[in-house]
Amino acid sequence: MERTHIKSIKQKIGEKITIKGFVETIRQQGSIAFLIIRDVTGRAQVVVLKSHTEAFDTCKTLTLESVVCITGLAKEEKQAPNGFEIEAEEIMVLSLASPELPIPVVFEKGGEETDAPKRFDYRWIDLRKDERINIFKVWTELEKGVRKYTEENNFIQVYAPSFMGVPSESGAEVFEVNYFDRKAYLAQSPQFYKQMAMAAGFEKVFITGPIFRAEPSYTTRHMTEFTGWDFELSYIESHHDVMDELEKFLISGFEQVNKTVLPELEIPKRPFPRVTMKEAKELLRAKGISGEKDYDVSPEEERELGRLIKEQTGSDFVFLIDYPANGRAFYHMRYPDQPDITKGFDLIYKGLEIVTGAQREHRYEVLEKQAKEKGMDVESLRGYMDFFKYGCPPHGGVGIGPGRIIMQMLDLPSVKEATLLPRDVKRINP
Ligand code: ATP
Repeated sequence: MERTHIKSIKQKIGEKITIKGFVETIRQQGSIAFLIIRDVTGRAQVVVLKSHTEAFDTCKTLTLESVVCITGLAKEEKQAPNGFEIEAEEIMVLSLASPELPIPVVFEKGGEETDAPKRFDYRWIDLRKDERINIFKVWTELEKGVRKYTEENNFIQVYAPSFMGVPSESGAEVFEVNYFDRKAYLAQSPQFYKQMAMAAGFEKVFITGPIFRAEPSYTTRHMTEFTGWDFELSYIESHHDVMDELEKFLISGFEQVNKTVLPELEIPKRPFPRVTMKEAKELLRAKGISGEKDYDVSPEEERELGRLIKEQTGSDFVFLIDYPANGRAFYHMRYPDQPDITKGFDLIYKGLEIVTGAQREHRYEVLEKQAKEKGMDVESLRGYMDFFKYGCPPHGGVGIGPGRIIMQMLDLPSVKEATLLPRDVKRINP
């Protein structure tokens, strides 16, 4: 018999239907038993009467979180959670769960959530909870929304390799791997390749893929592997064009989430406030907060800046622009009249960096000079430098951390909660 998703039972009252899912609760009361069955669309109460002998006997052998297929009559029942229940005629056990669950899916009254490390050890059970699955439904919709934007605005979708002959950023955070008779590096970003696509004349590209960072950090916003979204645009006049595009891209994502799974989500308004690093530092100092570096902001400064801007403008988003050159990569373009200031920016959402972007330096000689100034080995960058030798449009783009967007959107305590299987210094399993 064709399966009915629990969400659709309402339309099938009076019919014999088959549902499939996990057994969330079991309540035996003499000659009657009640089950709550859960599938990805919702929960349904199932009543099992002693008169259906076989189903009733099977029900006695059931354990919590077993997977079953139940056929029976869908009927209205005012007492049941959604106003309907299924009177089981047949119960087939598709997978019997061990009686001792390592972590609970449903809490007893007053029960507490298991600590994160143990939950991540048993991630597949942890993810059975509504609020966990919901995180990934939100991500799915966000991605649908941003892709809608890229599709409607002539972006070309490309994928970049993860193996690289040279590290994509300065050396420290790179994973080195054995690659036959030599070393290779796992991409810390698709930076070089998206710029190559600009040199190839693609004009607008969108990339998603895994990003690897050998960051020995134990923060709530870093992992060693994460999904990145990147886009790059040609023929821009300045980094402000990139920020404009990013605002529209994100709003399209937020609109899709709001329309489908999170109606309470506020859709940000354009333009997002843009504050220079100099202004930001002054604002923060006035509040008695000063970080160690004048060319970057500490997590505390980021949080406080987000809060101040929210207070002043009502915006959850703020662009921090005009980063000093000593805090930025060699390929960020600098102002002709202020060679120490880059056309680089970060986007902060509710006090956390979610995007880095910039206009890139596309002029070969200037790029080479900047690389040398940063002490880079230009010869080892030859493969990259050559992209700019045979004609390359002015361009700029962004690297976006969707996990961090979801973390902030849903007020999650860590980016790991927004990741199916987080990877960090200690964890590479399951
Ligand atoms: P941070 O300063 O927070 O360490 P970053 O400046 O190293 O971040 P970028 O290299 O600019 O980050 O990467 C682009 C985006 O990718 C960031 O804005 C962030 O959203 C995301 N991101 C960077 N590193 C990580 C990480 N280790 N885990 C998860 N997301 C990350």
